[in-house]
Amino acid sequence: MVWSADGPHEKQLGVPDDDVTLRPAPPRDGLLRFAGGSRGSSFKVALFADLHFGENALYWDQAISPTRARNISWASLFGNHDDARFEWPIDWFSSSGIPQILCPSANAFDGDKCTFKGTTRLELTRNEMIRNSLSHTGFGPRALWPSVSNYVLTVVSPKNDHKSAVMLMYFLDSGGGSYPGIISTVQAEWFHNKSQEVNPDSSIPEVVFWHIPSKAYKEVAKKAASGQTQCVGSMFQETVASQDAEMGMMKLLKKRPSVKAIFVGHNHGLDWCCPYEKMWLCYARHTGYGGYGTWPRGARILEIIDEPFSLKSWIRMENGSLHSEVVLAA
Ligand SMILES: [Zn+2]
Repeated sequence: MVWSADGPHEKQLGVPDDDVTLRPAPPRDGLLRFAGGSRGSSFKVALFADLHFGENALYWDQAISPTRARNISWASLFGNHDDARFEWPIDWFSSSGIPQILCPSANAFDGDKCTFKGTTRLELTRNEMIRNSLSHTGFGPRALWPSVSNYVLTVVSPKNDHKSAVMLMYFLDSGGGSYPGIISTVQAEWFHNKSQEVNPDSSIPEVVFWHIPSKAYKEVAKKAASGQTQCVGSMFQETVASQDAEMGMMKLLKKRPSVKAIFVGHNHGLDWCCPYEKMWLCYARHTGYGGYGTWPRGARILEIIDEPFSLKSWIRMENGSLHSEVVLAA
């Protein structure tokens, strides 16, 4: 999952701070705007990964409520848990006996029992888009369904007409849950065509988000273990759990000089960034309270500066501390 924030909002996302600025809801035109119009202002993205909101739309509403309350826009990206079958977490069972059954409307009642069949990717996306004017999430082209959340957003310059692109952010559904854990050939084709359309000469810097790491993450972790690559962040808490197969997406990205970094989640114990070919491969950080592992929670922050362009990143922990700062492009 990715939440994007226009302007200096990092402090508003889960970290206590007095300096909160609320602004009107942004227009839904796929353009993300810097907060200030002055030189030196920055655009920040807080990447909240592996929220594990209960694999159900009912809890997704709760998960996004702090952002909505602060009027910060966001975009979502689907992963393997989002449309998986709902499972009762064991700690929901109180010692006093059976918990009360609450059947979310998306799930069918079967007699007096709720089936907890989970919510499909399309239903989750539709629910988010209809109910939230702050959401920039896209369905993606129909031809790619049920793989959803394949879309691109543009961060535009604070200067002049507020139309010139500073950076492009691509979102891809890496499958999992009810769907194979891959980025398919048709998704790679979609990316190829889309990037040719919006950035034909590769003049605009680009970053890419998806959930399950590609096999290149495995390669790079191996190199780091043998000292051949210098990385930042937590490297060896667990092994890389990569996509089931490579269908051409990484080949395309390697060829595009404008691609600066890829960001994934999925491995809760990893939050590294490593150089790979001419780009960076980065993990987010486990943000949610569901899912495996007891590592402290945090979020990856990206800071984009216009003119001269730079892209910096670090991890902000839940307790407010920062670590693993890295310059991904300058
Ligand atoms: Zn997870």
